[in-house]
Amino acid sequence: MSDFCDPWHKHAEKGATVPDAARFACAYELFISFEWFDEVAFFRRTETADELWTGSGGCSAHRSRKHPAPYTDVSQRATLTGIGCAYAVPPRGEEAAACLGLVARLFRARVGFYWPERFIAGGIVEKAAYQRVVRDLKRELERSEREARARETEIIRTAQELGLHPRPSGTGPDSWYANCPGKNHPLYITATAESFGCGWCKRKGGVEDLRTFVEERAKEGQR
Ligand SMILES: [Zn+2]
Repeated sequence: MSDFCDPWHKHAEKGATVPDAARFACAYELFISFEWFDEVAFFRRTETADELWTGSGGCSAHRSRKHPAPYTDVSQRATLTGIGCAYAVPPRGEEAAACLGLVARLFRARVGFYWPERFIAGGIVEKAAYQRVVRDLKRELERSEREARARETEIIRTAQELGLHPRPSGTGPDSWYANCPGKNHPLYITATAESFGCGWCKRKGGVEDLRTFVEERAKEGQR
């Protein structure tokens, strides 16, 4: 069986529920652009797969000063939204370690968009293990950020000059984000390839294409 990877729940069924046999892994806050959301993770081991499921508890109860939901309670599962299986991989090793590995993989896959912050409650994954995963990921990102800054290329300088605020994504020494002109989403830059791409706008190209793209957006903005 090859790995099933769906960190964004693109393949999740609408209104999916957490499988009964899935056990509570942990709950934590995710920082997404400028707000915090509660997320709850579950782990299920079947004969053929280790699965990580997640669901959203909505806006952070803690930060909005509501009574925090007892995510450890099975009855709370029904209140979660956006439930889906993020990973299904061949079962391997001890369950707690396998579960933690999938949680780490999920956090890494969503770097640049979702960042795990305050730990809410632990089940299979305890607070110390969660904090270790987040700390290691942060260190790794800082390292690749330093590497990326050490080798800025022309397209990075161009993005800077065009006011797109390029910043290393932290996912690789070559990988940057910048603001997509006039939009609220990032575009991606591969520094050494001198190329950019935006999946939302279906645009990609090199240094000159980036200049043209920004000019076009500026004209659209004036209309
Ligand atoms: Zn775009």
